[in-house]
Amino acid sequence: MKKSTISYLERTFGSKKLLTLNIPEKFSYDESTIYYSHPEAVFLPDTEEEIKEFLKIAKERKVKVVPRGGGTGVCGGAVAIFGGIVLSTERLNKIIDFDELNQCVEVEAGVVNGDLKKFLEERGYYYPPDPQSYETSFIGGNIATNAGGPRAVKYGTTKDYVMGLSIVTGEGRIVKTGGKVYKFSSGYNLNELICGSEGTLGIITRAILKFLPLPMERIVFLLPFLNLEDALNFVLQVQKANLPFSAFEFIDDTAIYYVERFLRRSLPYSERAKCYLFTELEWQNNDNYVDLVEKIANKNNVLNIFVASDRINEEKLWEARKKISYAFKEFSKRVYKADVVVPRGKISQFVKKIKGISTDKMPVACFGHVGDGNVHVNILELKNTDVCDVKNVLNSIMKIVKNLGGFPSGEHGIGVAKKEFLKNFFSRYHIDKWRKIKKVFDPYNILNPGKIF
Ligand SMILES: Cc1cc2nc3c(=O)[nH]c(=O)nc-3n(C[C@H](O)[C@H](O)[C@H](O)COP(=O)(O)OP(=O)(O)OC[C@H]3O[C@@H](n4cnc5c(N)ncnc54)[C@H](O)[C@@H]3O)c2cc1C
Repeated sequence: MKKSTISYLERTFGSKKLLTLNIPEKFSYDESTIYYSHPEAVFLPDTEEEIKEFLKIAKERKVKVVPRGGGTGVCGGAVAIFGGIVLSTERLNKIIDFDELNQCVEVEAGVVNGDLKKFLEERGYYYPPDPQSYETSFIGGNIATNAGGPRAVKYGTTKDYVMGLSIVTGEGRIVKTGGKVYKFSSGYNLNELICGSEGTLGIITRAILKFLPLPMERIVFLLPFLNLEDALNFVLQVQKANLPFSAFEFIDDTAIYYVERFLRRSLPYSERAKCYLFTELEWQNNDNYVDLVEKIANKNNVLNIFVASDRINEEKLWEARKKISYAFKEFSKRVYKADVVVPRGKISQFVKKIKGISTDKMPVACFGHVGDGNVHVNILELKNTDVCDVKNVLNSIMKIVKNLGGFPSGEHGIGVAKKEFLKNFFSRYHIDKWRKIKKVFDPYNILNPGKIF
């Protein structure tokens, strides 16, 4: 980037909004643990108008702009790998409007998911999208990746809560999409297009999000199974019985091994269990579903049943699931992640095939959202091993996914991490159409260029 451009931006916005010296390290990476690039500058706007002004200059001077939320992404999307200025939304952190009558809130893009959840819970309401990074990821980042989470199996993903958006396009125009309406059949649905666009079509500045009543009852089960097939049959039968399930999360035996070592304690039945299933139910009235779940679990050879119905014990039961990523990180130099999605009925086939490529030197662990077919495959480059042929393993995983009718990402996005695999899943025609859509919103190719495709 030209020095004169940086000086012009500094003069326009001041050194408190445009950092060029002593840029904090956090702006150089995300949670992929793989991608790193120290940006030339970081822009920290306080308002949507400032973003508009900034993008007008960026388009004239051909400056690449990399939008950034909480930096919890795992695909390198918010890292300025190809140069340019990082645009951080961290100062856009206001909840603008709480509209009880229309059951929606309007928030700025930098509001932390967990803060919105808390705000609504205090008022008796519920914002379901629950990426497990909810304590630090931003609403803007969640929308840009169309984040899911364990409860997506019941409530859907972020896009299902977006009623309206305000974005700034690559031309420096503020565009509003949708509104406070529950139905929309008035032309192309741009809300859905922006969800999952990973900062390539516009900077999300505001969102109108719907919310639900807070569930009155919640119960969590930890169920160790002898094999994944029994666990999946259990899931199917709970769904068929129309029980109010809100999450089915599994972790495989490799993941159990690393979580035990990380927590420095044994987990129940880990010597026999090939899979743990975390099952959560949420509902509004006073029905008792525990007996029914136990009956179905026993029918499917569960090893034991652990139940929690209060917040403290719920946290304890979820611990092994929630600590997985930290456990992998502790024992690995690098963790290569692929959050692939396959048809629900093919998960067991998929995990079996993955076991076939996992080795002691380079373990491949699976966990994830069994209820919706979204499996998180983690290739561990262990601390005590030489560099491994990760690329080859990733290629084999993607081939398996393709053969089973799946796709490379269910919720994390493509970023740079999975970019090279897109051509195996989508035709040139398809990707070409995406490029044309990008050009409509970003004719000067300044918004996160090089990401996705
Ligand atoms: C421990 C852990 C658990 C996780 N669990 C889940 C999970 O359960 N489900 C899930 O889906 N993901 C999960 N993730 C991945 C990650 O948290 C999500 O992708 C999240 O939505 C990213 O939000 P962020 O604010 O951190 O975005 P960032 O990492 O800052 O950015 C992600 C992408 O969005 C773009 N972007 C960010 N803000 C904007 C904006 N305002 N306008 C336009 N583009 C923008 C960036 O350019 C980048 O391409 C997890 C990550 C971690 C570390």
